[in-house]
Amino acid sequence: MSNRVDGERLWGRLMAMAEVAPTANGGSNRQALSDDDAAGRSLFLEWATAAGCTSELDEVGNLFVRRPGLDDDLPAVLIGSHLDTQPTGGRFDGVYGVLGGLEVIERLNDLDLTTDHPIELVVWTNEEGSRFQHSMMGSAVWAGKLSLAAAEKLTDLDGTTVAAELDRLGWRGLRPARPRAYAAAFELHIEQGPILEAEAVEIGVVNGVQGLRWFTIELCGFPAHAGPTPMVGRRDPARAIAGIIDRVYGVVDDFGPWGRGTFAQFSSSPVSPNTIPEQLICSLDLRHPDEAALDEMEERTRTIVDDVAGSLGVAATITKENDSPPVAFDPACIAAVQASVDELGFTNRQMVSGAGHDACYVAAHCPTSMIFVPCDDGLSHNEAENIDPSQAEQGASVLLGAVRRMATRPSETS
Ligand SMILES: [Zn+2]
Repeated sequence: MSNRVDGERLWGRLMAMAEVAPTANGGSNRQALSDDDAAGRSLFLEWATAAGCTSELDEVGNLFVRRPGLDDDLPAVLIGSHLDTQPTGGRFDGVYGVLGGLEVIERLNDLDLTTDHPIELVVWTNEEGSRFQHSMMGSAVWAGKLSLAAAEKLTDLDGTTVAAELDRLGWRGLRPARPRAYAAAFELHIEQGPILEAEAVEIGVVNGVQGLRWFTIELCGFPAHAGPTPMVGRRDPARAIAGIIDRVYGVVDDFGPWGRGTFAQFSSSPVSPNTIPEQLICSLDLRHPDEAALDEMEERTRTIVDDVAGSLGVAATITKENDSPPVAFDPACIAAVQASVDELGFTNRQMVSGAGHDACYVAAHCPTSMIFVPCDDGLSHNEAENIDPSQAEQGASVLLGAVRRMATRPSETS
C-alpha cells in the first residue's frame, strides 16, 4: 500500500543501528560527539546517500540530508531527531525519529514520487546532554536559544570541549546554525511515558509540550539539640518542608491529570542526626501544558511555602531557577498528523509531551508537531527501552502521510 512504509526495512535499520556501540543489556551507548556517535552517523549517511540524498553539516555539527522537491525553491518539510544516546541508552529514543524519517524518503523513492516541496531530514547534535550537559544542544544553537560560543565551551568530565570534538570529527560545517524557512517540521518519537500503552492506543497525536518551572526552596530555622528541645516552639525546617510537600502535592493533584510536581535534591545543615537543622534546601519541578495553570500552581506553591514556614517561625525563600514555557504545536501540522492517522485507521489520541524534544526549539521558528508511538512500560533512557516492529511501522507510516500532506502545494490537494 502506498500509504504504508516498508516496516521490514525500517526494523532492519533500527536493529543495525543498535549494533553500533551496543551495550551488554541490549541497549546502545553513543554519547554525543564520540567516535561511537560518529560511527552511527556514518552508517546513517551511507543509507541516506544511497537513497539519493545530499548532505550538509552546520556550524554545530547538525547533519542535514535533503531530497529535492519538484520545485526545489519551495521551503522544505523538515523531519528530525537524534542518534546520540544516554550512556546506558535504548535502541529507539531519537534513533526511531531519524530512521523513520529516512524510511519516509526511501518509501517515496520506491513509489517514484517526488513531492512539491523538498524534504530535509536533520540529525541534531547532542540531544541527550549527558556527556556535554546541555540537552537539545544542537537544536538550541540552531534556534538561537544557546550561542554557538557557549555550546563550544561545554566540557565533558575529561575536560574535552565540544569545539575540540567538532574539529576532531570534522563536524564543523559551513552552513550557518540558524533556521531556514520550512513549510512544516515533524518529529517522530517513542512516547517515553505509559499513557498510550495503558490505553491500548496506537498513535499519540502530540499537540504540545509541557511547560516546566524549576525552583529552589530554602528554609532557615534554629539549630538546637534533638533531645532536650521540646517539640513545641522548635523552628524546624524539616517540619516545615513536610507540610509544604504535602500541601503542594495537593495543588498538583488539583491540576491533574497533566499537572506534575517533583521535590528532590534535599540537603540540610548542619549535617548531624541529633541537631535540628538550621537550613534545609530542596528543588521543586512543576509542570503543566497550560501557562495559566502553571502560573496558578506557582502562586499557590508560594503561598503554601510562606504560610507553612511562617507558622513554624522558619524563614523561607523560593527562587525560580528555570522557566521553560509550554509549547503549543502548529494546528496545521497537528491536523496533517491527525488526517494521516485517520486515513490509516489507527487508534489514536491527542496528547502533550512530558519530556523536552528538539521539536520544542524547532517550533519557535516553523510550524511543527510530533508523533508518538507507545513503548513498553513507558520506559526510556534505559537499555530495556522497547517497541515492536509493527509499532515502528505504524508511526513511520503516519509520518509519511503527514509529510506528504505538508509537502504538497495547497492548490494540488483540492
Ligand atoms: Zn529523544
